[in-house]
Amino acid sequence: MKRIAVSTFALALTTALGAGVFTADSAFAQEKRFIAIGTGGPTGVYFVVGQSVCRLVHKEAAEGRKKGRKHGIRCAAPSTAGSTYNIGNIKAGELDFGVAQSDWQFHAYNGSSKFKGKAFKKLRAVFSVHAEPYHIIVGKNSGIMSWGDLKGKRFNIGNPGSGQRGTTEVLMAAYGTKKSDFMIATELTSTEQSKALCDGKIDAYGYTVGVPNAGVAVATDGCGAKIINLATGIEKALVDSNPYYAFATIPKGTYKTTDSDVTTFGVMATFVTSADVPEDIVYEVTRAVFENLDDFRKLHPAFKNLDPKKMIKDGLSAPLHRGAIKYYKEKGWM
Ligand code: GLU
Repeated sequence: MKRIAVSTFALALTTALGAGVFTADSAFAQEKRFIAIGTGGPTGVYFVVGQSVCRLVHKEAAEGRKKGRKHGIRCAAPSTAGSTYNIGNIKAGELDFGVAQSDWQFHAYNGSSKFKGKAFKKLRAVFSVHAEPYHIIVGKNSGIMSWGDLKGKRFNIGNPGSGQRGTTEVLMAAYGTKKSDFMIATELTSTEQSKALCDGKIDAYGYTVGVPNAGVAVATDGCGAKIINLATGIEKALVDSNPYYAFATIPKGTYKTTDSDVTTFGVMATFVTSADVPEDIVYEVTRAVFENLDDFRKLHPAFKNLDPKKMIKDGLSAPLHRGAIKYYKEKGWM
């Protein structure tokens, strides 16, 4: 009996909504629109970006409260494989937004590198978020001090679809390193790699991620892993010849084992969408983030110094989405 009563209620509700029975003031009258944001592994910073954006979108909506924006957007930010997976799934219409490294945003829009012959011309930038240095994290007793020392070692190149996998491959090409130069090249996810390092299953891993990161801390603070410098002529050439790379510092004291500054190269984490996503949705999402930027900055230490002037420009190579432009113009930022 109870079961039947529930489904009858559900049916009645659907019919009532369809027939527009509720008044305009009713919370139920607002059309619900669901958006999905692609992030990264659950221990990464992308996951926090996605969760934070959804939180602010819902905060802005505040249905039932007088000042809320009646945009009806419901937001979810599931964990995914990472940057290139997110871009591919935005293209396929499976995701509405995603977080992606600035290098992969560039290549996807321009049809270069991994995206050769597969340019995604409808890719649109919304804003950039935090800096992501490329980390090589090495086991305490691995003896690895430089890229060259990885030869003959067990190295995690990252799961397919992740940004770090792509950036690791770029670095391998720049150094002339083949997969067969490693004893094994594993494809563990960002969530698996620190544990594997501490368990002695791998000697090192490459990871492009915001600072600080709880996943990295599992290895550095948990089992004495170290982050090595990557600042030779090879990285300098990469930075000099590509607009989306820059040198980055992981400051002394970030983790238990960072007893001096680490110099490496890195990218920006960027928030992207497709030209096919409606203007008002992108406008509302953008607005939710920037109107609540102080809240956003508090949601992760990597967001602490976010500056709107930089966020609407740095690391962005695809054109800005018109919904974002609308908001930036209203603010007088463009
Ligand atoms: N940069 C990584 C990627 O593109 C993700 C880092 C994170 O999850 O914070 O896959």
